[in-house]
Amino acid sequence: MAETENTVETTAAVLILLGPPGAGKGTQARMLEERFGLVQLSTGDLLRAAVAQGTPAGLAAKAVMEAGGLVSDEIVLAILKDRMAEPDVAKGVILDGFPRTAGQAEALDTLLADAGQKVTAAVSLEVDDEAMIARVAGRYTCASCGEGYHDAFKQPAVAGVCDKCGGTEFKRRADDTAETARARLQAYHAQTAPLIAHYRALGVLEEIDAMGSIDEIAAGLGSIVERVA
Ligand code: ADP
Repeated sequence: MAETENTVETTAAVLILLGPPGAGKGTQARMLEERFGLVQLSTGDLLRAAVAQGTPAGLAAKAVMEAGGLVSDEIVLAILKDRMAEPDVAKGVILDGFPRTAGQAEALDTLLADAGQKVTAAVSLEVDDEAMIARVAGRYTCASCGEGYHDAFKQPAVAGVCDKCGGTEFKRRADDTAETARARLQAYHAQTAPLIAHYRALGVLEEIDAMGSIDEIAAGLGSIVERVA
């Protein structure tokens, strides 16, 4: 006889943010992390850390990232699985920049199914391509806390001082140029946008207009998380 009544379900949320470079996935993931206690898991950040540390995966990924292409599924999945094995992930995760290919989406479905879990929601941030190039080409972050800024759209209140932590060092990503942003946008349309249909078929797709202000998008995303998580 099946004893389902006392079975403890794994309830941790698995949220996916889908959207082209510059759509605000990282910014929004950080806000959701603070508000809901979820853990942001960015394959871009994990890969940049691997590049900075000069690990074999980082060495293999560096040139592809600088050209705006996609790193191989094999490398990305190895990095993601290591991160998913860490204990804090039990609080629930926001996947930012993953999955990015059909192969990654299927591997994620399998990984979660093995743990008795599934994707809670995949939120597609709907934006305009040309606006994305402008956003990506001017952005930079605080080197201490990671807060995001932009030359044209969001400067710190006091020039050269991070609003959030008071840090005075800032950094720009090597791939945040207009030219590389175009290549990344192309990779998004060719390989990642088709995942929208995958999550629609699974019944977990949510779409959100991401052309508004950071706070408007955060409010929209917050109500989705409250509803599904
Ligand atoms: P953005 O979303 O702004 O393009 P990310 O920080 O997510 O930036 O990714 C930066 C780069 O890292 C990508 O252009 C790609 O080369 C690589 N990358 C990140 N995540 C993945 C992934 N899931 N699969 C393949 N490559 C990835």
